[in-house]
Amino acid sequence: MTAPARRNSATGLRSWKGDVEADYRYTTGIAGERFFTELREHGRLVTARCPACDRTYLPPRIYCEECLGPTADGPPVEGPAVVEAVTVTHIDVDGTRRPTPEVWAILRWDGIHGGLVHRLAVPANRAKPGLRVRPVLRPRGARVGNLTDIVEFAPQGTIPKGRLAPRGSTIADTPTRKARGARTSGKRA
Ligand SMILES: [Zn+2]
Repeated sequence: MTAPARRNSATGLRSWKGDVEADYRYTTGIAGERFFTELREHGRLVTARCPACDRTYLPPRIYCEECLGPTADGPPVEGPAVVEAVTVTHIDVDGTRRPTPEVWAILRWDGIHGGLVHRLAVPANRAKPGLRVRPVLRPRGARVGNLTDIVEFAPQGTIPKGRLAPRGSTIADTPTRKARGARTSGKRA
């Protein structure tokens, strides 16, 4: 019996045999709601801005960590992300060795506090801090409002111009290579 079904069943709530499911929902919060909705609907990474401190935050937050005052909606990020640090994973989450290593990076944008951790579409031997990359999105209809709507971050030059999202966004709208189509359908992001 699933946890939602159990909540609607008197007997299901009185006794519990077998494994206890860890079933929960996590809300994204006010700032997160806007961030993920904008990502899903418009392919943009929006920020929050503190007018008092002139600070911009990504991911957005509802208060400023400097002055603790409320923030306002900020604009989408402009320009590429800069790779700050990289790590190469050889072992998968289940402990098995990956057929090919995967590269992950800490990504920051000029003038913005915070950043993102995401997969990098760069061979392990060429992944290094300082690379300038842009997010590559799942196609619009396939986006669900999750950070996995971003497939990966790819170097600017590898994303065809015709696949860039509309003005106001610096995000490519489809995977950069046909081969990536298979990867986007994987269970992990
Ligand atoms: Zn502030």
